Amino acid sequence: MPQRFRLLPQSRLLAPVAPFVAFWEMVSPDYALAASVFFADISLSCFAVALSFGGCAVAVVMARSKTQRRIQEIYEYAVEGIFQTTPEGRFISANRAMARILGYDTPGQLVREVNDIGHQIYAHPQDREKLLRLLRQDGRVQGLEVAQRRRDGLMIWTQVNARLVTDRSGHPLRIEGFVSDITRRKISEAELRKQRLYDPLTDLANRDLLTDRISRAIERTRRRDNYYFSVLFVDIDRLKVLNDSHGHAFGDAVLKASALRLKSCVRELDTVARFGSDEFVVLLEEIDTPREAARVLKRIHAEMRIPIKVDLQTVQITVSSGVVLNTAPYTSPEDLLRNADIAMHRAKDQGPDRFKVFTPRLHEEAVLMMSLETDMDRALAEGEFYIVFQPIVGMSSDTLMGFEVLARWRHPVRGEILPSEFIPVAEDTGRIDTLGLWVLTEACSIMADWRADHPQALDLILSVNISSRQFAKRNIVKDIRNVLDKTGFPADRLRLELTESAIMHDAPTAVRRMKALRVLGVTIAVDDFGTGYSSMSYLQQLPLDNLKIDLGFVQKLEQSPENREIVRAIISLAGGLGLNVVAEGVESEAQKKVLSELGCQMYQGYLFAKPMKIAQAKALMQDGTRQADED
Ligand code: C2E
Ligand code: CA
Ligand code: CA
Repeated sequence: MPQRFRLLPQSRLLAPVAPFVAFWEMVSPDYALAASVFFADISLSCFAVALSFGGCAVAVVMARSKTQRRIQEIYEYAVEGIFQTTPEGRFISANRAMARILGYDTPGQLVREVNDIGHQIYAHPQDREKLLRLLRQDGRVQGLEVAQRRRDGLMIWTQVNARLVTDRSGHPLRIEGFVSDITRRKISEAELRKQRLYDPLTDLANRDLLTDRISRAIERTRRRDNYYFSVLFVDIDRLKVLNDSHGHAFGDAVLKASALRLKSCVRELDTVARFGSDEFVVLLEEIDTPREAARVLKRIHAEMRIPIKVDLQTVQITVSSGVVLNTAPYTSPEDLLRNADIAMHRAKDQGPDRFKVFTPRLHEEAVLMMSLETDMDRALAEGEFYIVFQPIVGMSSDTLMGFEVLARWRHPVRGEILPSEFIPVAEDTGRIDTLGLWVLTEACSIMADWRADHPQALDLILSVNISSRQFAKRNIVKDIRNVLDKTGFPADRLRLELTESAIMHDAPTAVRRMKALRVLGVTIAVDDFGTGYSSMSYLQQLPLDNLKIDLGFVQKLEQSPENREIVRAIISLAGGLGLNVVAEGVESEAQKKVLSELGCQMYQGYLFAKPMKIAQAKALMQDGTRQADED
């Protein structure tokens, strides 16, 4: 502590201003110096004046009282609270501001009523201990922010600047300093922090806060043997559809409701974060066994399934989720989140309302997907893709009605790759347009060739799958027309297979495009019917010609009478709407028989033929020759 201040409190004349000088010392040491010189000057000049008037004690007293009064005024009306306390925790003096900040009517009341500052004023007594420790160490404390309690119990934030006054031997005499009320600043800081760390819509933690908490959890795993945590990635199924059909305000309300439900499934110490538009992440901390995480996950799925009421409407949503149970090997939150995300996507691939536990195998598969992505460009350029045809036949006499074209990839290293693997990659990376158009062109030109030489081919329908992303492309109708022009294949023999999600993704646009295609003469089938929205009512509003019952239903036909009833309903509904029905994936005579009884007109499946190479398909078309099955 600078020597000049040490002297001040010792001077009886300047004793009342000591905290005031201390105050300025802490605000600005230069100012404090000026103040001390000013006060010292005043006292000296008073002294001189007194002497020159022949040691007139009255004059000294008068001058002294004037100065004191001025100082007293400043002390009294300062905005900051100025205090002197005993080291044990009683107020010796305080100004009005000090009393006001702490909610007392007068400084006198404050001094009288408070006899244990640590417990009466400090919201956390350990803060007072910290202050004392710092004072003992450094003699002073600057800008210490502490929570204090007002007389009425209200908590406030203050900033304390104080110094310890000691006697010559270093024995503490008192603490003095000043206090400012920073509650308002703290509140706005907290609000800012909240904006920075929390999602404004749902009030959940945002990505930054989540990443930080996961980092800490990883850190704790390293320090503590029996510390386990788990990360769940939860994604709302088809929120986009809800947004499109009910509007964004509705979607937001669903998100808010989902956030509340997620929170209700976990404990206070867990973190629920909004990770992306319809993605949430739950961090479960301090869990005993992985089974506990699985239990929470099940609870989340069940909770989310409960219908949500928004205004007067009720909707039901489901979620897909992925979970990382063994978090031990992780060193970065990013890796952990990526793997939980991979598991979630795997769950989603299997349909809505599923969850999947992450395993290293899933990661290998994801890496493989990534390598597929880079291989795909080469495959397109080097002709590694080829097409196969699967016959579609009439139910009653197995007459050939047409073919569905399916893409195949002969990978130079990995061998045959199935569309279930490469179509999603092509979709995700935007290569589906090129691939899809290539398939369409290839199939149309082959069939056009057949038509030129074989009258048997004239009636055959060519069914081509158009993926969701491909159908969402702006030029799709024009592209298809170009292919027809180029290959000379007649539009009325072409059937496009669209999934329900391709249509519902953006229904108004889809319907417009479907109508434009129909004007050309192209017919349209809804593919995999029953797996998507399964809302039959929308069917009648769509310009459709054909409905393909998903192979999942066909294969479960014999398992339960319920499935049979669903298929019966689908077929009769289709009949009512004038749609033809094709059953996919018919593998047994028994299935075929049931379908036939239910009134289904056409089918395709291993029972009749697997997808076949072009030469085999051509033989079948020409004279019904059935060559050996392919592997
Ligand atoms: P999809 O349109 O539902 O095609 C029918 C799938 O069922 C084909 O699988 C076919 O080989 C298989 N399948 C046919 N009969 C049977 C059967 O009796 N039993 C069983 N278990 N399966 C049968 P594939 O060829 O693996 O194609 C899978 C999916 O990939 C297709 O499902 C389609 O959505 C997509 N896909 C294939 N080629 C293309 C294409 O060129 N473009 C687009 N966008 N998607 C394609
Ligand atoms: Ca299909
Ligand atoms: Ca299908």
